[in-house]
Amino acid sequence: KTERRWTVMVVPHGSGASRAVEVSQTVVKALVGIGSVVSLAFLVLGAAAISRGVNITRSRALENENRVLADEVQRMRERLVGLTDTLNKFSEREQELRLLAGLTPTDTGVQRAGIGGPAGAWSERDSLAAIGPKGQEAIAARVDVDALSRRADILVRSLNEAYGSLAKQRERLAATPSIMPTAGWISSAFARERIHPILHLARPHEGIDVTAKMGAAIEAPAAGVVTDVKWEEGYGNMLTIDHGGGLVTRYAHCSQILVSRGKRVKRGDVIAKVGSTGLSTGPHLHYEVWVNGHAVDPVKYVLPDAIVD
Ligand SMILES: [Zn+2]
Repeated sequence: KTERRWTVMVVPHGSGASRAVEVSQTVVKALVGIGSVVSLAFLVLGAAAISRGVNITRSRALENENRVLADEVQRMRERLVGLTDTLNKFSEREQELRLLAGLTPTDTGVQRAGIGGPAGAWSERDSLAAIGPKGQEAIAARVDVDALSRRADILVRSLNEAYGSLAKQRERLAATPSIMPTAGWISSAFARERIHPILHLARPHEGIDVTAKMGAAIEAPAAGVVTDVKWEEGYGNMLTIDHGGGLVTRYAHCSQILVSRGKRVKRGDVIAKVGSTGLSTGPHLHYEVWVNGHAVDPVKYVLPDAIVD
């Protein structure tokens, strides 16, 4: 079998003789093969170069991202310092409020729980530590945030406690008799023993008599609930207010009672009118204050500067 042969004609432009080159098919195949290998090599090398360029670009972008994020962590830590200062100021106010509310200062142990390291392990810690200084920075930021968060929780709990205590104090003050129930003058003082003006017998006077005009307003001296409205021998028209905490007040000889049993009253509410019902020589209010079942001098429950609310 004879090999196929190829003739390549080289014809120059202009003058000059044409040349014919005769090549065998093997040579053609070899040339084509070499050409393919060379172009493939160029392709691979070119791709590698491009890929390397892309990698360099990407790693520069990552480096840049890293720097931006690390800077942000740094800035956050600086902000946390400011936040800690603010929380410290809150803490000072909290301690003052606790004193006002009649509470003991926050336990220093409890306060310290808001400082110190993070409670419990967290999984990101090791991976952050492996990063190096920037990772340590992030760990520190996390520790700061955890501490602040715990302190804020303690503050909220403490402030709620102080608020509750103050609200209770306010309620107790509102329910403590502090004003004279009617405008008048004391015609008979509180006495363990006195001669009754009508019965002429030695008897304790368990309240004070306030002489006033017939029909003058009688005001509740503190917040409470009307627990009794009745006619009682000697006392005439009378009513009782329970102020809670063992404090009870009673009003006798009224001409008219303006509230009914179960009515909630507050300081200054008009509850009755001065009269002379029962055993009485003229219009006056017989006013009693009872503490845990014992009559006490009502004058002790009239403050020179009444609590105004
Ligand atoms: Zn009396």
